[in-house]
Amino acid sequence: MTDARQPPAAPSTPACRVERSPVHGNGVFANRAIAPGERIIQYAGREISWDEAQARAAAQGGPHNHTFFFSLANGNVVDGGDHGNDARYINHSCEPNCEAIEEDDGTIHIYALQPIAQDEELSYSYPLIYEGRHTPAIKRAFACRCGAANCSGTMLAPKPRRRRPQPQATPAAERGAAPATVQTPPPAAPG
Ligand SMILES: [Zn+2]
Repeated sequence: MTDARQPPAAPSTPACRVERSPVHGNGVFANRAIAPGERIIQYAGREISWDEAQARAAAQGGPHNHTFFFSLANGNVVDGGDHGNDARYINHSCEPNCEAIEEDDGTIHIYALQPIAQDEELSYSYPLIYEGRHTPAIKRAFACRCGAANCSGTMLAPKPRRRRPQPQATPAAERGAAPATVQTPPPAAPG
């Protein structure tokens, strides 16, 4: 079924849409078949400093509360909750069909890892860094319910993971962050 080909959508039609997800909260679903390697959507948002990101998270009640941060190689953060787009609703999966890549220009895009059928939910693996103590409440907030056979049960990563080498020095590494790292909302997503 994965090699079924849909007629191409109209150019103005987005490749994906937001809907309630059986995983949790809102999710993002393909509007049409998507080919492996296809760039699906930008992870949009305002680029802010790490300190500003921490301040924003604290103002909203903590890092587990509706934060949509992606760490960039330059040490800044993209806040998907500020001028963001549908990409911030893409759920985590331990067996994802997409990946997030930081481009050379510092933008983040979501790419298909494999053929994705129309109406299939998009997902990627958050290599999620949480610097604070992994308290029971934090572990609950970041519990994974993706349902994959190899589900780790958590979205919290013990170590940053790189999807591909970055040529330049990465100050973010000193803080344990990494390109394509995200902090996410709890299972009860907005909406
Ligand atoms: Zn999982």
